[in-house]
Amino acid sequence: MNSFSEKLTPHLKKLIENGSNAISRQFIAGELKSTPERNFISHDPLKEDNFIPVRGIVHKYSNRVLWKLSYECAAHCQFCTRRRQVGSKSGDLTKKDIKAGLEYILNHKEIEEVILSGGDPLFNPKVLNYALEGLIKIDSIKSLRIGTRLPIHCPQMFDNPILIKTINIISKYSKELPIYMLIHINHPDELTRESVEVIKKLRNKGLILMSQTVFLKDINDNTEILDKLFREIYFLGVIPYYIFRCDYVKGLESFVCDIKKEQEIMTELTKKLSGIAVPTHVFDVPGKGKIPIPLNFWKKIDLSRCSDFEDKEVLI
Ligand SMILES: *Cc1c(COP(=O)(O)O)cnc(C)c1O
Ligand code: SF4
Repeated sequence: MNSFSEKLTPHLKKLIENGSNAISRQFIAGELKSTPERNFISHDPLKEDNFIPVRGIVHKYSNRVLWKLSYECAAHCQFCTRRRQVGSKSGDLTKKDIKAGLEYILNHKEIEEVILSGGDPLFNPKVLNYALEGLIKIDSIKSLRIGTRLPIHCPQMFDNPILIKTINIISKYSKELPIYMLIHINHPDELTRESVEVIKKLRNKGLILMSQTVFLKDINDNTEILDKLFREIYFLGVIPYYIFRCDYVKGLESFVCDIKKEQEIMTELTKKLSGIAVPTHVFDVPGKGKIPIPLNFWKKIDLSRCSDFEDKEVLI
């Protein structure tokens, strides 16, 4: 039995009580849907579990690794790509696992960047501290990323002394190498006064802030909503990095948007927004590579198939 259940924070509950449809659709568990003929057959369509040299590390691209420090998050996004893992204690890395991970990174000089992920690494600041302490000593590491959704799930946690200490350590390290904090934000309703305050605080700590968004059917697949979202994000000093086509995870079909509609929205946004405020629209194909989805300015593009990084054809 999968441990991925419904999990909300008081902060998110309040937003739902105040009538946010976008929040309730993202966090209240609904019916899972899969039609096998549409490729929604795998719990791990990105095949992450095929690229694990050491517990916690996903080494899919040669110069950078993803390091999952734990599988826990403050709340559970129902469309989570890693719902096969998230919510389980079994992903918490021990000191021994972290040592093994650091050794792997140290011994693979081609790795220049580590992307700390999970779960949510900020939800487990002790493990994060320990990993950071080791990473900062490795000369071949030129930049770090930290993927989080905690400022949205639970901005109140940033008053917690352990997390404050971690943020200060991250801030100190960011003087030595660039640390990119990637905040997962999907809808303007998520940018509450409390979350905005946390984002402003993080910006004043010297981190480079970027955002990631997932296209979600009937939640944000709308030009006005995304226009507002990216404008607000950009004017907070956060650079929208990627907007993902929702991964084809078994059960998640009802979250996946029409690709043509996604393309049209991104094309409209390109006409309206500052260049820096328009994220790259990608699909993480079930082979290897986040493949950019072309805009609608070019004629006769077939959105039903593409090639992955290894030039293998993938049906969309
Ligand atoms: C997304 C991802 C990365 C980072 O890719 P970028 O395109 O550099 O953001 C690295 N490793 C894995 C396994 C990923 O899924
Ligand atoms: S924050 Fe990320 S890892 Fe955690 S449940 Fe949401 S999508 Fe999944």
